[in-house]
Amino acid sequence: MRNPFKRNRKERTPGQKANDNILGLTYAVVLVFVLLFGYSAHFLLFQREQVINNSYNARLDQFAQKVVRGRIFAADGTVLAETALQEDGTETRVYPFGEVYAHAVGYSVRGKTGLESLANFYLLSSHVSPLERLAADLSGTKTQGDDVYTTLDPGLQQAAYDALGDRRGAIVALEPSTGKVLAMVSRPGFDPNTLNEDWERIVTEESGQARLLNRASQGMYPPGSVFKMVMLLEYMREYPDDYEAFQFDCSGVYQVSDGGETYSIQCYHQTAHGQQNLQEAFANSCNGAFASLGLMLDPAGIRQTAQELLFNQELPLSMAYEKSRFALEEGADVWEVLQTSIGQGRTQASPMHIAMITAAAANGGVLMEPYLIQKTESAAGETVREFSPREYGALMTAEEAQALTEMMRAVVESGTGSALQNDRYTAAGKTGSAEYETGKETHAWFTGFAPAEDPQIVVTVIVEEGGSGGRTAGPAARAVMDAWFSE
Ligand SMILES: [Zn+2]
Repeated sequence: MRNPFKRNRKERTPGQKANDNILGLTYAVVLVFVLLFGYSAHFLLFQREQVINNSYNARLDQFAQKVVRGRIFAADGTVLAETALQEDGTETRVYPFGEVYAHAVGYSVRGKTGLESLANFYLLSSHVSPLERLAADLSGTKTQGDDVYTTLDPGLQQAAYDALGDRRGAIVALEPSTGKVLAMVSRPGFDPNTLNEDWERIVTEESGQARLLNRASQGMYPPGSVFKMVMLLEYMREYPDDYEAFQFDCSGVYQVSDGGETYSIQCYHQTAHGQQNLQEAFANSCNGAFASLGLMLDPAGIRQTAQELLFNQELPLSMAYEKSRFALEEGADVWEVLQTSIGQGRTQASPMHIAMITAAAANGGVLMEPYLIQKTESAAGETVREFSPREYGALMTAEEAQALTEMMRAVVESGTGSALQNDRYTAAGKTGSAEYETGKETHAWFTGFAPAEDPQIVVTVIVEEGGSGGRTAGPAARAVMDAWFSE
């Protein structure tokens, strides 16, 4: 049978040959466009897969062979990390501030941490022009990856780093109205510039140092008296009409007998606080008062309030973190209730989590999700992505936030937070001195915000074995707040 599509071959005229040449050229142009389109489509597809946080993603690593890792900037454009190219093509990641941003910016050798992990996808995405990309592809050179602008404030980060000095601990500073992480320091740290060389020494170091751990979000500590914020909220919830009538007479040691046993709770250094109302008990951090208050509460209620404040919950954080723990249950024995009421017992929290509770109190009860990446830009300086503040939800009502704020103001004005008193701004907060091992100095806490009437900044401090929160962590928080209000 005859094939209807088969044509008879004819002799071609010179004109037809010219047409063939033009056709060939057209095919070449179309091919280039198809290639370009394929490139864009590939990037778009890649973007949709949201593999941002997977630092070991093999496909991302393939991108590193085509893209020079982008730069990481502080909010004001200060370079925090960049890739230096040697003449032989060797790349070195350079961190101009070394240890100061070690945990916030992280590292990108031997795995990735901090922003190097969080922003890995952006740093290896390149939004140079299609022509530049094609040229680089044809010549076998790399294109420049996108730059990442963070929310970190260099003055504040340095102040927080200096405030901790040589002590172990962490400091977090947040903007409560947006959730921007303004500073995040963990000590002891490491120099990300020489991490490869120092690796063996760091990982074989004596325990307790844990230099690679970001204590701000991964450190688990007994909250001590900063947990009185939680107890206070629960007490206001269970006694809404008469919580202000609370009274306690403190002799420095509070004793409770139960089932033939006598339990005693001591105030810090057995200080006898005398007659205390609720605000005074909170301001002076009277353990006896809060232990007695704890016995008046329903353990299931305390647990529920703690969980509403994100204990035992996943936190809305994109960075690596540890979940805080709260173990008290219905039917718990007296000793555990007493211990839990003063932030001891089995309760554990990270400084970042305590900062988030404080930020919610400072923001009318509403928690804004903490975030570190503000925007990404192409190497040519064009904005590629911008990140807006995101509301997580209310951790407490506006009335509760207001009441808590008043109590926290009293801590600074007349209680254990007097280190925050100054003429330039009003501060509110809570101190803590958390026991974690018999015979060792307590961990020192401070969490608070300023100005008390219109909060701009939340600062949370933990100093390991720092002793009293008021004496060690308070002044550190003061130094960070001073830096903020002098900028
Ligand atoms: Zn007391």
